[in-house]
Amino acid sequence: RTYLKFLPKIELHAHLNGSLNDKILKELGCEEDSIMQYKKLTQSIDKSDNTLQECFDVFKIAQNATKTQESVYLATKSVIEDFVRDGVVYLELRTTPRSEINMSKEEYIESVIRGIESLSGSKEKIFVKLILSIDRRHDKKTSEESLKIILKMREKYPNIIKGIDFSGNPNAGEFDAALFEEARKNGLKTSIHCAEIQNDDETKRILEFGPDRIGHATYLHPLYGGSQENWDLYCKKKIPVECCLTSNVVCGTSQSFPEHHIQEWINGSLPFSINTDDKGVFSTSLSREYQLVQRHFKLTGSNLWQISYDAIDYSFASAKEKEKMQYYLLQWLYLCH
Ligand code: IMP
Repeated sequence: RTYLKFLPKIELHAHLNGSLNDKILKELGCEEDSIMQYKKLTQSIDKSDNTLQECFDVFKIAQNATKTQESVYLATKSVIEDFVRDGVVYLELRTTPRSEINMSKEEYIESVIRGIESLSGSKEKIFVKLILSIDRRHDKKTSEESLKIILKMREKYPNIIKGIDFSGNPNAGEFDAALFEEARKNGLKTSIHCAEIQNDDETKRILEFGPDRIGHATYLHPLYGGSQENWDLYCKKKIPVECCLTSNVVCGTSQSFPEHHIQEWINGSLPFSINTDDKGVFSTSLSREYQLVQRHFKLTGSNLWQISYDAIDYSFASAKEKEKMQYYLLQWLYLCH
């Protein structure tokens, strides 16, 4: 575990409001009862009898605690600090721009960026980039408005805002390729939650669109209920998958750790990264996720080093930043031997 804690790691899939720890929730005024609710999913991890709806309801607790610019700023800082403590050297944080009574979507994004700027960069121990999310529950008009705002903010912060994501309860809404095509045309990278539930039609449309990365891909392989047609298409495109083991087991979309679909990516030498998804809600850390993969799929320390190294390539960092991270990892390897 110490090796994995100090291994320089790359986090590509972390939702801001699912990543808050108890301490920051308390500081932001969350009551004990709400904090217990926020953590309740992991109490039944062995049974994994949570429903997806129950999992998605929990996010509201953190979102209720981040309704002002100051609380969004403090929450962002706290999450970054947690990742630094866990040996993460590169973080792509994602969040859904939200307007509240005293905060516009633009101000929400600005507050996250203020938090990022206070801790990220070549003088700090971590590089942090931002991916802005489109919520599946939102209608076409709202999503289009969000995209406009995201593009406007990206002009102001091109070194921080790197991509766009499609997330939220997979039972709601559907993937609108035209919206993400527009985002891509305007230079945003795309990371799309895909096949979190069995939905071959949507999965096909996402694969045909061809995002830079896909999140979860739980029901993509035929052994996990995906269609052979989609799997063949995936194997042609080999899009890197952001795997989030604890999240899938706790939400009950994966039956258990040893049965997690990541094994198909490991066995087939297909591109993937290891991630936390919502480290607060799922009581995890990136080093713990690495440990789970090591334990359940019998990987060596050097296999895990390679997984971290490969994730650099899948990231939305600049070429120069990628080189720097590769250097960190090579230097670490050198120091270990
Ligand atoms: P926020 O975007 O910073 O508010 O982070 C919480 C939000 O991320 C949730 O309300 C969901 O929309 C999204 N989210 C978190 N985890 C997942 C997941 O596993 N699948 C899909 N969406 C998710």
